[in-house]
Amino acid sequence: MATDAREFELIRQMFVRQVANRPDVVIGIGDDAAITRLPDGRELVTATDSLVAGTHFLPDADPESIGHRCLAANLSDLAAMAATPLWASLALHLPQADEAWLQAFARGFFRLADQHKVVLIGGDTVLGPLAVTVTVQGVVPVGQAVQRSGARPGDLIYVTGFPGSAAFARIYSNAQLAECFSFPVPRVRFGQALSGLASAMIDISDGLDSDLGHLLQASKLGAKLDIADLPLATEMVNELGQSESVALVLNGGEDYELCFCIPPEKASELEELAGKLHVVISCIGSVAAGTELQWLQGGEVFSVPDSSFRHFG
Ligand code: ADP
Ligand code: MG
Repeated sequence: MATDAREFELIRQMFVRQVANRPDVVIGIGDDAAITRLPDGRELVTATDSLVAGTHFLPDADPESIGHRCLAANLSDLAAMAATPLWASLALHLPQADEAWLQAFARGFFRLADQHKVVLIGGDTVLGPLAVTVTVQGVVPVGQAVQRSGARPGDLIYVTGFPGSAAFARIYSNAQLAECFSFPVPRVRFGQALSGLASAMIDISDGLDSDLGHLLQASKLGAKLDIADLPLATEMVNELGQSESVALVLNGGEDYELCFCIPPEKASELEELAGKLHVVISCIGSVAAGTELQWLQGGEVFSVPDSSFRHFG
């Protein structure tokens, strides 16, 4: 900690909260390190994600949204392993102790943390260019995590929700889908429920094309998928038309949706589960032998448009 004592006290007060009924948190914020207790028969699953001003958000972006998104990104990574999140730690790099900024940030962070019963167990607060790093830890029954590498030839490939919505909201300042970018909903419960069903899974925060590519690479397999099978948000197609919409679905990024594979015989069980949990899912094709992810349009190779112009900073 590098801020002065009074500033730090202010920040500490915002982040220290009473933790009720959590035998898994032996020591939370306030000592040199936190102590947590892992339930019997569970493995620890850990993810870290950083948001840096100028790279991942504009310096004047809504702090409530930043508080939400830095946690949502990690919850999405845990969901993609089928893990249950339990604990978070938070490193704040702040150019100054701006109370209003911190209060709004904390509001966004804790609203989402409370929804998932995630306890903030520690962190660090230092002076520096605005950036936020969150680590989330969770648990999964031993051997039950879903990895990227488990896909088999013939498995169906599914994606949740409407990828591209976050990029559409941000780049085109679309009001109808604004929440998809500012307050994305990580698929925590659905991800957990896919344990035992999904053979492989990944979250698509970098974009469907590149992240599904990572899954197939890890599984040493390929796929030929038709862009006609991609789910397109109505609000987006109405404003942008088909071709730009497809580009955003494939590489808009910042959606905290899940892409996963399941053996075809489990499709009806999956559809039932998705209905029960109110999650929209779309089958976009199937896994095949090979080493490549190829997109097709009417049987012809479709090249994924460049996305570099869409980034911040
Ligand atoms: P140290 O100098 O030993 O690192 P700090 O003064 O940085 O101690 O932190 C004191 C306590 O406050 C620790 O429990 C630490 O985890 C917690 N803490 C500091 N900053 C944050 C933060 N931004 N969010 C949550 N906990 C924090
Ligand atoms: Mg410290």
